[in-house]
Amino acid sequence: MSLAYTPVPICAIATAPGRGGVGVIRISGPGLLPMAQALTGGKTPRPRHALFTDFLAADGSPIDNGLLLYFPAPHSFTGEDVVELQGHGGPVVMKMLLARCVELGARLAEPGEFTKRAFLNDKLDLAQAESVADLIDAASETAARGALKSLKGAFSGEIHHLVDDLITLRMLVEATLDFPEEDIDFLEKADAVGQLHALQAQLRRVQATARQGAILREGMTVVLVGEPNVGKSSLMNALAGDEVAIVTDIAGTTRDTVREEIVVEGVPMHIIDTAGLRDTDDVVERIGIERTWQAVEKADAVLVLVDSRTTPGAAVEAILARLPARLPRVFVFNKIDLSGQSPGLAEGPGGARAVRLSARTQAGVSELKAQLLELIGYTGADEGVYLARERHLDAIRRAGQHLETAAGVWQQVELFAEELRLAQNALSEITGSFTPDDLLGVIFSRFCIGK
Ligand code: GDP
Ligand code: ZN
Repeated sequence: MSLAYTPVPICAIATAPGRGGVGVIRISGPGLLPMAQALTGGKTPRPRHALFTDFLAADGSPIDNGLLLYFPAPHSFTGEDVVELQGHGGPVVMKMLLARCVELGARLAEPGEFTKRAFLNDKLDLAQAESVADLIDAASETAARGALKSLKGAFSGEIHHLVDDLITLRMLVEATLDFPEEDIDFLEKADAVGQLHALQAQLRRVQATARQGAILREGMTVVLVGEPNVGKSSLMNALAGDEVAIVTDIAGTTRDTVREEIVVEGVPMHIIDTAGLRDTDDVVERIGIERTWQAVEKADAVLVLVDSRTTPGAAVEAILARLPARLPRVFVFNKIDLSGQSPGLAEGPGGARAVRLSARTQAGVSELKAQLLELIGYTGADEGVYLARERHLDAIRRAGQHLETAAGVWQQVELFAEELRLAQNALSEITGSFTPDDLLGVIFSRFCIGK
């Protein structure tokens, strides 16, 4: 990857904002040893050993004391020299230390810039770099495990494997181009079509796993409709069970009162409670509600909660009428412990999916979970699932289309060769060996500072 950058040292506070026992400043750039020496009053840190030291201001007075770690290039996260200062985790101390680093010639890092340098220095490929952010943002243990798997190269490895096989086939096809007389014979003897089919099957397997990984990352958005006291809050608790939703601080996702995050079987679920979608004069609340309706447009399902002893009322009907028609509906007849009905699948109005359950006794809750996961095509995270993104699925889809076209035109060797080339390019976007610079900018700008 050749995207050039000006290798000035960059620095950032790598630990989360606020107070903590320890705060870490990370510096990356070429030739950081003089900076480390200036910070420590002339000490020379041993590579990859902790050095307990004062961190000094320009006049030689100590700003803080702590550990300095020195990772000379290329054996560091970014592939450049990296220095980490572990000081006391107070915002004022950290700010003073950071200012001192700037004074010594570093500039403040942009979001994701460390990871970007790691990518540009071939320490990570693009899918791995993305998984750094995904690991930090993971909303469930399953998602975190999947992100780590991607970071360690499980996903990239599959893509590399596919690309290698594609290259082998391309070499065969391109060689044929030089002997137009016998081209088709030659391809038949070498079973080019058989190789292509094997590639397509392999791509489909990767696609299936990646799709599961994308669900784990993105989760599903569920709209919750129901009158007061039908048991919405109780149902959310029952669905979440022991899994604690970790609220992450992803840029641009401000949480409003009408949205809740829970985790079901490792899949993050973004629940929009329409009870909160009321008319209001409060400007801020109105903006939140407007945004929520936009989320409703992209939702995966609507859960209509009804007390099993009654039928849905007019207020619920009104909201249902406002929801996009394509949204799959799942009716939930709650409080069956009071109505005496038995738990499990049932039929809702108009033949809609329905589940009878009790949020209180939990009877029937697992059936509802199964219904929800089935709706988005989640079949469970076995050990093999790595985290993937919509961007990856899109690239895989396009590669698949080119292979499909290739299968149809294989007797026109030039077209065949071209489709294989396009398939390879699409796959290479995933690992970043064929990715436009502007896309790189977008990907890295979504990181947090210090990563
Ligand atoms: P929400 O207003 O729709 O969020 O309803 P809540 O979850 O706050 O529940 C309203 C009341 O119904 C509470 O007293 C709950 O304990 C009760 N409740 C909820 N689900 C059940 C259930 O399945 N069985 C019984 N017996 N009570 C329930
Ligand atoms: Zn409630």
